[in-house]
Amino acid sequence: SMASPALLMRVVASAYSVAEKAATIVRNVMSAGDLGIVEKAGPNDLQTKADRLVQMSICASLARKFPKMTIIGEEELPTEDVTEDLIEDGHCEEILKKPCPAQYTGIKEEELVIWVDPLDGTKEYTEGLLDHVTVLIGIAYGGKAIAGVINQPYYNYEAGANAVLGRTIWGVLGMGAFGFQLTEVPAGKHIVVTTRSHSSALVNECITALNPDAVIRVGGAGNKIIQLIEGKASAYVFASPGCKKWDTCAPEAILHAVGGKITDIRGNPFQYNKEVKHMNSAGVLATLRNYDYYASRIPNTVKESLVP
Ligand code: AMP
Ligand code: MG
Ligand code: MG
Repeated sequence: SMASPALLMRVVASAYSVAEKAATIVRNVMSAGDLGIVEKAGPNDLQTKADRLVQMSICASLARKFPKMTIIGEEELPTEDVTEDLIEDGHCEEILKKPCPAQYTGIKEEELVIWVDPLDGTKEYTEGLLDHVTVLIGIAYGGKAIAGVINQPYYNYEAGANAVLGRTIWGVLGMGAFGFQLTEVPAGKHIVVTTRSHSSALVNECITALNPDAVIRVGGAGNKIIQLIEGKASAYVFASPGCKKWDTCAPEAILHAVGGKITDIRGNPFQYNKEVKHMNSAGVLATLRNYDYYASRIPNTVKESLVP
């Protein structure tokens, strides 16, 4: 008989189903119409009922199956009992059938750190820019993002009633990423994707210095990595603090699984061990291809303004 699947593949397979349940919750809260918006640090840092319910659902569902993992979610929530209707205990069979990359077969549960952004792009969610929204489950081992699941609950929402609503993208280092069609921006074209709701003078100064052919402003770190892997943008550039480890972990794993690269604006890699500071204080620079082209054009004055 077949050996039982490696822990990492079981975690990814479960995270896939947990993220699909999360997407259902995101859509249900929106259709019910009461978003229950709470300001965290200020009007540009929001939490909705969907952020709260989804985090409870993801964290409780994964903790029940894998009690020794460390799970870190974005939202600070009161430790109340999670109702049973929020628990997802399924997994994706197709993922479970795939062989685990050899370097990860020996991973133990207590060695994994899960970074959860229950709803990335909350500001856009509250403004009805629904396809900017993603659910992010990042899996880290040895301080590195090694696997990730990105669910886009409203993928195809403007494509008509016959289109399948929502999708799940997942990836593992050494294995690749699935659930989308990898596409590159045409050679020689420089399209920068950046924040739409968290701009600053420095964010704009940095983009201007890159002299891109076009700038796309959309919400969400997950959404911006999707723009890179689907050939909509060549570089994600964000010269500002604000983005956190739960924003970058799942996107990083998927981008790296297809040969891309993400660092802070100064070129330092992100660390994802459980003790790490949550804030990515020195911003984000990510590309699918030609990382050095962009990294070499970030002005030193911009780099020096951002302290890791
Ligand atoms: P954005 O590109 O603006 O959608 O940001 C990507 C992620 O980083 C989202 O989860 C944002 O909430 C978060 N983020 C970026 N800048 C800030 C900020 N100034 N304050 C709070 N969150 C931020
Ligand atoms: Mg986020
Ligand atoms: Mg969030």
